[in-house]
Amino acid sequence: MSTSPKTAACPCGGAAYAVCCGPYITGAALPPTAETLMRSRYTAFTLRDEAYLRATWHASTRPSEPLFAEEEKVHWLGLEVKSALRLRQRKAKSADQTEEINRDTVEFVARYKVSGRAHRLHEVSRFVREQGEGGLRWFYLDGSFPE
Ligand SMILES: [Zn+2]
Repeated sequence: MSTSPKTAACPCGGAAYAVCCGPYITGAALPPTAETLMRSRYTAFTLRDEAYLRATWHASTRPSEPLFAEEEKVHWLGLEVKSALRLRQRKAKSADQTEEINRDTVEFVARYKVSGRAHRLHEVSRFVREQGEGGLRWFYLDGSFPE
């Protein structure tokens, strides 16, 4: 990301920022799926965009403390979305489709460095879709750590 974030490849690993997570983070569009929201939240973390992270965090689990410590220098290295879990869950979907379409799970591995030390975050995030500003929208609910 040495060039402008507008033209560089998207931090989430997708195409250019302007046609990947950019429209969601600027508010020009709503992420249509839990996965696109998850990707845009990862990108927002790399940009330290606290406002976007709060806006997409479900009110019931949104932290009250600041998300970014001033002294904490996190260097995000990349994101890998694992679809296997979602596909399994999709196949096992219950008959209650209306409930199911407003809930989703995304498993991912994010790599980052703090003070030169590499870390790996493996998370299964839960998302819910609710009526919000601008219509039906996805929110991050919480996450669990499979390892
Ligand atoms: Zn992206």
